[in-house]
Amino acid sequence: MAKVCQSCGMPLNRDKHGGGTNADGSKSTTFCSLCYVDGAFTQPNLNATEMQAFCVEKLKEQGFPGVMAWLFTRSIPKLDRWQKT
Ligand SMILES: [Zn+2]
Repeated sequence: MAKVCQSCGMPLNRDKHGGGTNADGSKSTTFCSLCYVDGAFTQPNLNATEMQAFCVEKLKEQGFPGVMAWLFTRSIPKLDRWQKT
């Protein structure tokens, strides 16, 4: 199974940058380049529900029907970023 970003659920092999960047400049294999840059989340105040809504909008912009967008994003709350420790 392809690795997906543990914040937004996008497959990392679809990320044009191949992943986000850690604070030391290395590639993140956990988060994509849209969510994670230089060791920090680009949208640190988002919660899982808001991330889901954000991604649904992005997918719709790319022409995905609402139902498909919902299917692609419904596992977002299960990703590592959103687990309470
Ligand atoms: Zn992401």
